[in-house]
Amino acid sequence: MNYQQILKEIEKEIQPSLQKGKVADYIPALAEVDPNQFAMTITLKSGEQFSVGKSQEDFSIQSISKVLAFSLAINIYSKSLYKRVGVEPSGNAFNSLVQLEYEQGIPRNPFINAGAIVVMDALMSHYGGDYLALEKILNFARDISANQEIKFDSTVAKSEMEYASRNLSLAHLMKSFGNFDNDVRNVVQTYFKQCAIVMNTENLSRAMLYLAFDGTDPINGRSFLNELQAKRVNALMLTCGHYDASGEFAYNVGLPGKSGVGGGIVAVVPDVMSIAVWSPRLNSYGNSYAGTLALQMFTSKTGLSIF
Ligand code: GLU
Repeated sequence: MNYQQILKEIEKEIQPSLQKGKVADYIPALAEVDPNQFAMTITLKSGEQFSVGKSQEDFSIQSISKVLAFSLAINIYSKSLYKRVGVEPSGNAFNSLVQLEYEQGIPRNPFINAGAIVVMDALMSHYGGDYLALEKILNFARDISANQEIKFDSTVAKSEMEYASRNLSLAHLMKSFGNFDNDVRNVVQTYFKQCAIVMNTENLSRAMLYLAFDGTDPINGRSFLNELQAKRVNALMLTCGHYDASGEFAYNVGLPGKSGVGGGIVAVVPDVMSIAVWSPRLNSYGNSYAGTLALQMFTSKTGLSIF
């Protein structure tokens, strides 16, 4: 298949959609990004990459980082983690408080905010504090992307901390139900730093290759998850990766994927490739408008979906 040609077609066809949607402005630092940008990269088993657009432009990976934190947490806690966070799609907004109240402080899944905050709480307990937990996540991000330069953007993290009321509320609510061990503010602040990890589509596509190949990076042979764990992460990305638009994403794209409010989306074609796409304007669910469409075009043109 001529992947470069297919990406070029997508880049051309996507142009009218780059003006649609709105950047995430509830994190002020994200609102400063030029909203009409687009990039897409695929990475194959061999390491060969194909890109279009601004594939070397860094962006905030935001909720895509939840996949990294969860990958670390299932390695440590295995089944006991599911006492603290479920594996069901939420059918609610990513930062909903209502469901958490009904379900007594146990978040539906690790990819909504409450779930990711509880995962951070668990990582901090295990690693012995905020600094070490963040270092582990950053090192994991560096290892899977085979790039030791990966870091987080402290301006974005600080900016989010200034408007943290809702995420702090989620954490306090979980604490009130006894599903929280560490200091609320400290956990949320560290979670924001995790969300502020910066990558471009070339890094991100390379980074997620382990999920396309049963937990092992096919390029350097490093194993990050076992086959069963990788299956679980992919299943969660398919069912919960796009908040309450997860069904729509599965229906239109047909791949496990995870989005972030920075406009990035990552998707994996099992045993074939990992794909990263970025365009900052979001649809009403908080997922990249053009990014979702580009992935839909990709699977329609190539027939590469899991269905
Ligand atoms: N840091 C963001 C938040 O907690 C992540 C949300 C997202 O990317 O969807 O609101």
